[in-house]
Amino acid sequence: MRVTVLASGSGGNACVVEAGETRVLVDAGLSAKEIERRMEARGIRADSIAALFITHEHNDHASGAPVFVRRWDCPVYATAGTAAAIGLEGDLFTPYVRVHPSRDARVGALGFRAFATPHDAAESVAYAFESDDARLVIASDLGRAEEAFVDFLRHATTLMVEMNHDEDMLRDGPYTWPLKKRISGGFGHLSNAQSAGAMFRALGPRLRRIVATHLSRTNNTPAIVHAMLTRLVERSGSNVPFSIADQIAGLEAFEA
Ligand SMILES: [Zn+2]
Ligand SMILES: [Zn+2]
Repeated sequence: MRVTVLASGSGGNACVVEAGETRVLVDAGLSAKEIERRMEARGIRADSIAALFITHEHNDHASGAPVFVRRWDCPVYATAGTAAAIGLEGDLFTPYVRVHPSRDARVGALGFRAFATPHDAAESVAYAFESDDARLVIASDLGRAEEAFVDFLRHATTLMVEMNHDEDMLRDGPYTWPLKKRISGGFGHLSNAQSAGAMFRALGPRLRRIVATHLSRTNNTPAIVHAMLTRLVERSGSNVPFSIADQIAGLEAFEA
C-alpha cells in the first residue's frame, strides 16, 4: 500500500492511498484545483481516483469535496451524518456510499473500516485501510483517546495520527479561552502527549512507520513532536521510523 500526503493541518488535509489498481483520496480540505495541482506534481492523475473518503465535514477536510467529485465523477464515502452535513442528502448528482462505523467494507483492492471519533462534528470517523499485509490507520481530529481507539490503532503497519498541540503552548498561547477549551476538550484535538500515549499503548511488532499529522502552526512545532516521537520509539525499544506531515509540503510517498 502506498501513501502520499498532499497536505496536513488545520489549513487543509488530503492524502492519497493506493493498493494495486485502486487509488482513493482521503479528505479534500483544499480547493479542488489545489488538490489537482498537488497530485499532478506527484504524478497522480485526478481521473484515477476511485473514491473520496471524508472523515468529517469541517472545511479543512471537506471544502474541496463538492467540486472535486463533480469534476472527476468519483463517489463520496462518508458516514450518514457527514454526508448530511456537507449537503449530500438529496443531491442526486453526487454518487454517495454510506460508511457505517465499525463495519468492514471494500473499494477495489482496499479493505476499509471506519471508527467513530469524539469530535465536534456531526459523525466524524477515522479510517483503517487494509491490503495484503498492510494496515494503515488515518486518525485525526479527535478530542480524546479511549481504550476502543487504542484497539483501533493496534496491528497497524502504519499509524498516521494527529499530534495537534503541545499542551503548554496551547495554554500559554494567543488563542481565546473558549477556543483553548474547545481544542483541549474531549471533542477537540489530540495533544502530542495524548497521541503519543495512545500510540505507545497500541504499539506492536507489525508497526513499521509512524506519521504525525495535523500539527497546529500556532500551538506546536515539528521539533517538539520530533522529540516526543524520539522518546516514544526509545521507550518502546523498537526502531520504528517516524515522520511529520507538513501543511505545505505534505509528505513524500511511502509504503504503508
Ligand atoms: Zn482538522
Ligand atoms: Zn475537525
